[in-house]
Amino acid sequence: MGNQEKMKIRTWRRMTEIFQAILILGLPFLRINGESALRFDIPTLRLHFFGASLWMQEFFIVLVAGIFLTLLIVLVTLLFGRVWCGWLCPQTVLVDFTPFMDRAARKGFVYKGASYLMTFAVSVLIAASLIWYFVSPYEFFPGLLRGSLGQVTWGFWLVLTGILFLNFAFLRHRFCATICPYAKLQSVLFDKSTLIIELDPARANECINCSGCVRACPTGIDIRKGADAACINCAECLDACSRVMSKLNKNGLIHYAFGVGGGGSILRQNVFVVGGFVLLFLAATLFFSMGRTGIDLTVLPHNLEPRIVRDGRILNAYVLSVKNMTHKPVTLYVTVERFDATVSQSLNEPIRLGPEMADKFPLFVKTQNPLKLKGSRKIAITLQDRERNITVTEDTNFVVPDEL
Ligand code: SF4
Ligand code: SF4
Repeated sequence: MGNQEKMKIRTWRRMTEIFQAILILGLPFLRINGESALRFDIPTLRLHFFGASLWMQEFFIVLVAGIFLTLLIVLVTLLFGRVWCGWLCPQTVLVDFTPFMDRAARKGFVYKGASYLMTFAVSVLIAASLIWYFVSPYEFFPGLLRGSLGQVTWGFWLVLTGILFLNFAFLRHRFCATICPYAKLQSVLFDKSTLIIELDPARANECINCSGCVRACPTGIDIRKGADAACINCAECLDACSRVMSKLNKNGLIHYAFGVGGGGSILRQNVFVVGGFVLLFLAATLFFSMGRTGIDLTVLPHNLEPRIVRDGRILNAYVLSVKNMTHKPVTLYVTVERFDATVSQSLNEPIRLGPEMADKFPLFVKTQNPLKLKGSRKIAITLQDRERNITVTEDTNFVVPDEL
């Protein structure tokens, strides 16, 4: 890689950070199907995710997706080390966007005071943006103007602002080396082939000891002394050394390398094992996501006991609790099947439910001929959405009373 290319690393990092900042701040404003693209609605316990609304009973999908993301982070860390920290972590992005704090600290009291004010303003904005993932900005701002934001929202906003201000004003990159749990996990996930930033051992003797790399490092590491657990892979030292060495018409001495001296291998056993689990949970996430019916059916008991009616047939009663979790009205046809073809049911009219509506419906099931066997038998109650070609089936017991 030539000097020109190496000089671009900071530019690429900044572009990635700006993209990420726009994404994080803008996502709650993006509306799909009338809802924020990503928001957890606490009152209804629903997760709005790019047009889909996941209800509590579908949260196993979030759990599976969470395991997939965790394994993906493990795989990325195993392969590329702390690339997340240097390129994508919101903490790094935000600290990189408030460099005036570092400069102002050196310029005196007035600059320092002004920088604290600016940092506070940034903290207020970031804290609000985090709240928008729970309270839609389309409710937040009207509520703010009307003075009806609510005590809980105000409380969270104030507490988050305070935590962020203390972080940006005083902790900054020290957060990565002292508090961040992911940083602590790194040492377990690294192996001898993980991508690191290092002083090229083959060219270490060319170092002119200008200390440019040390001055550029936001976490105060001297990369010349070898790998350090506090390194966030930001490549600032790499750019600094490239600048210094370019004046001597040489390539920089600091580089990205898979393992010390670039002696590592990308394709290795632990990468295949973790990669296999990543693919497995990705497949499970896609399978469960695409298998969503948007209809929830629960069969509840009815007050009416199982009994034999006048014509000799056996009657069982149920209550169908049906929820339409989609954004559109649905028409659902009810059928009861399983142990023979002689079962009839009372819901001859289809169930109609508006968008995101739930209701309960009594269902009476009779056998046309007395059953030979006593005890209970399994039956299947099915709701069919013919428009979307979707069926939801719930098994329940059909009880033959003792008096038979
Ligand atoms: S050593 Fe280099 S890559 Fe690591 S944190 Fe410091 S400047 Fe960034
Ligand atoms: S910037 Fe490069 S030349 Fe200067 S001290 Fe660091 S490694 Fe050596």
